Amino acid sequence: MPSHRPVGPYFVDRPAYFTDALYESSARLTASVCDRYGIPKDRTRVIGHYEVPGSDHRDPGPHWEWSRYLRLVDRTWREPDGRGAPASG
Ligand SMILES: [Zn+2]
Repeated sequence: MPSHRPVGPYFVDRPAYFTDALYESSARLTASVCDRYGIPKDRTRVIGHYEVPGSDHRDPGPHWEWSRYLRLVDRTWREPDGRGAPASG
């Protein structure tokens, strides 16, 4: 069980690309990874690529709405139907 495994949205910083569908699908994926590895769904564990130690990436960038994203992850997590939904990936 990896204790330092980072999860989160790794995207290019292109605000036009940040659609509702992207937030939704990414939140579901993150929630499923959190579920699988028992990772807390908070801002200290759900991080951007730019926050990964040693990473030279800058995504998702300053236009990513973290509060919105975490709300989606949390909601997805707590929905009975959503727990086992994204089994692939
Ligand atoms: Zn990246």
